[in-house]
Amino acid sequence: MSFDVDLFVIGGGSGGVRAARIAAAEGGARVALAEESRMGGTCVIRGCVPKKLMVFASGFAHAMEDAAAYGWQLQVGSFDWPGFRAKLHTELDRLEGVYRANLERAGVTIHDARATIADPHTVQLDDGTTVTAKHILVATGGRPFLPEMWRPLREAGAPVLVSDDIFDLPELPDSILVVGGGYIACEFACILAGLGVKVTQIYRGAQILRGFDEEARGHLAELIRDQGIELHVGTDLIELVAADGALRAKTTDGRERPYGAVLFATGRVPNTEGLGLVEAGVALGRRGEVPVDEWSQTGVPSIYAIGDVTDRIALTPVAIREGHAFADTVFRGVATRADHDLVASAVFTRPELGSVGLTEEAAREQEPVEIYCTSFRAMHTAFAGRHDRVMMKLVVSKATRRVLGCHIIADQAGEMIQLAGIALKMGATKEDFDRTVAVHPTMAEELVTMRRPVREA
Ligand code: NDP
Repeated sequence: MSFDVDLFVIGGGSGGVRAARIAAAEGGARVALAEESRMGGTCVIRGCVPKKLMVFASGFAHAMEDAAAYGWQLQVGSFDWPGFRAKLHTELDRLEGVYRANLERAGVTIHDARATIADPHTVQLDDGTTVTAKHILVATGGRPFLPEMWRPLREAGAPVLVSDDIFDLPELPDSILVVGGGYIACEFACILAGLGVKVTQIYRGAQILRGFDEEARGHLAELIRDQGIELHVGTDLIELVAADGALRAKTTDGRERPYGAVLFATGRVPNTEGLGLVEAGVALGRRGEVPVDEWSQTGVPSIYAIGDVTDRIALTPVAIREGHAFADTVFRGVATRADHDLVASAVFTRPELGSVGLTEEAAREQEPVEIYCTSFRAMHTAFAGRHDRVMMKLVVSKATRRVLGCHIIADQAGEMIQLAGIALKMGATKEDFDRTVAVHPTMAEELVTMRRPVREA
């Protein structure tokens, strides 16, 4: 049977673009890709990239405070959000262009249209085009989840926001209520506070960042509060009423207050609605995700899926690896499984939380462990008179001496955890860490100078 293309990729995010490029440029495949919105997807257009640029923008507020403490005489002005936002969007336009150019250079045919699956080998585009494909790759990512009950208010034009909206705000609100305790809630709470917004964050559970190391969660929650963010855990939203362009929120702790906006950072859901997957024979999971095997193949052999839409590990570099592994396997004859073991990640709060491997709690369930942990005031911040403490923690197997987990809360923890991730991936033992000579004076040197366990379990 002959097809128009060897591969049709639905979704021009980081994962889909990587798969398309490798299949076309290195696998010699005829590849087409459809993107209904902007090339680059969540990470580039409304996620990691603009978020990180906002982290940088927000960091200057603290840098200026520190500068004064270091003897600089500064006249600190206010933050020009519209000016920053315009520049941010220019940068996103540039990056979108780079993504597009890279695809074109690889020989991929781009369709700026919404694609749906008509049958296991046919894609229907909303511009009327039909394309047949030997393989279809679903790389449609995810989107913010807004609980049903708050949707009417949003639709009525009240400032009920999800993370996508932040980058387009005409102006920053004076105050905001952030709902949620995950990556996005904690990151935006810190970013917006740094930019001068009065932030209140509520989380329904007992402690923010469920799934991370307990000790790290507690430590970071304290530092979030120390920077003036009102963080209330065990608290949920009961009522929201629009009033004069703002919102009045009632929460389960009895508080009732007006906010300039409410940001719902209440998770993300896979983008599978109306895609035609079920009709093509792919049964979806409970959250609407596309279930796949270790080769990213669905139950329908010609249809594969990668990235957030599969609800495995929702991180850009993981989607890229999955897309690359798929293209290697199917188009380069190199059978490759995406490796989901020991994936490091960072939460870009202030300070950052970097984490790789097992939490203390998970490791203890698995085997007897030693815990090495230190908390100290870093030279840079101590001199500036700040009280925030760095935390570094290693979870070590008693039997094999391998470092099973590493958790860091510090400025630049994201950079540090990338390197610690290499050591853990190589199977480094505590003794390997110990025989590594410290780089002095740094914060990270504490990782190789923790001599005695603080506890065993
Ligand atoms: P998360 O799943 O991390 O957090 C969602 C939060 O919303 C949780 O605290 C959850 O509470 C809460 N929540 C869910 N539903 C409700 C509800 N109905 N009412 C009140 N609270 C609710 O999702 P995010 O959207 O923050 O991030 C999605 C994913 O994107 C992350 O898991 C991560 O993989 C990725 N990401 C990575 C980043 C990075 O690498 N720096 C940055 C941003 C996102 P509960 O814990 O009780 O379920």
